[in-house]
Amino acid sequence: MPELPEVEVTRRSLADRLVGATIRHARPGKPLRWPLGCAPDSLVGRRVVALRRRGKYLLLELDAGLLLVHLGMSGSLLLANGLPEPGPHDHFDLATDRGVLRLNDPRRFGAVVFAPSADAPVAAKLLGGLGVEPLEDGFDLAAFHTGLRRRTAPIKSVLLAGDLVVGVGNIYASEALFLAGIRPTLPAARISRPRAEKLRLAIRDVLTRAVAKGGSTLRDFSNAQGEAGYFQLEAMVYDREGAPCRRCETPIRLIRQGQRATYFCPHCQKS
Ligand code: ZN
Repeated sequence: MPELPEVEVTRRSLADRLVGATIRHARPGKPLRWPLGCAPDSLVGRRVVALRRRGKYLLLELDAGLLLVHLGMSGSLLLANGLPEPGPHDHFDLATDRGVLRLNDPRRFGAVVFAPSADAPVAAKLLGGLGVEPLEDGFDLAAFHTGLRRRTAPIKSVLLAGDLVVGVGNIYASEALFLAGIRPTLPAARISRPRAEKLRLAIRDVLTRAVAKGGSTLRDFSNAQGEAGYFQLEAMVYDREGAPCRRCETPIRLIRQGQRATYFCPHCQKS
C-alpha cells in the first residue's frame, strides 16, 4: 500500500511539471472509493497552482477549487505525453498541456475528489481528522507525549490510526518501533517521555530515509516516472519473520494486531 513516503515521492516527482499546467480534459473511469463530486467538464481550463500533500492525500490546488487524490491500496500516478488508451485499471485521466496525469488503481480503493475550497465540507471530511505531519515542526515531543498518554491502545495501533500523527503506516510503524526499542503491543499511555522522544525521532528518521530512497517497492507501487523505490531492502524487521535480527540475531517475530502484520525483535523490543 502506498504510504506517506511513496505519496511524498510522487508529489516531488510531479510538482515541477504539473504546477502551471492547464487542464484540457478530465476522464473518470470506473467508480473509485468516492465520487469526483463535480462534472468532469467543469475542470477544463482550470490551472494547477500548487501540488501539496496532507497525510496520504495529494492536493492539486487549482486556480478555483482543488482535487484531492488518494492512492488507496494499489494506486499509482503517471504524468506523461502520448499515453496509450486507458487500460482496464486506469480509472482517471487528467489531460493537461503538460501531459496526461493518469491514476492506475487495480483495487480501486483510491479516489479523486473535487472540493470547491480547502474549507469545503468534503475536504473537511477527508482531511479534518488527520494528526500532525511527522516531518514538519508541529510534530514536537510535548504534543506527541501528551497524545500518547491519552491513548490506552497498543502503540502500534495508535500510530496506524493517524489521528495523533499521520502517515506512519504499517511498514514504517514496525520499523520505527524497532529503532526506538519499543514493543508494538505496549499501551501508548505507558510510554515515558524519554521513550516517546526516541520514538518521535525514529519515526522522523524512518520516513525521511524512505522519502530519500524513493519509497518502498511493496506490491505494485511505482513513482511517477515508473521507477521502483527500494526502502524495503534494508528493513530491520518488516517482512522478516524468522530471520535473524540485524542487531542481536534473535529471530524476528510476526504477530497480528487489528488484522495488520506486526514484526518485532523480542530481544531488542522487550517492553
Ligand atoms: Zn534484536
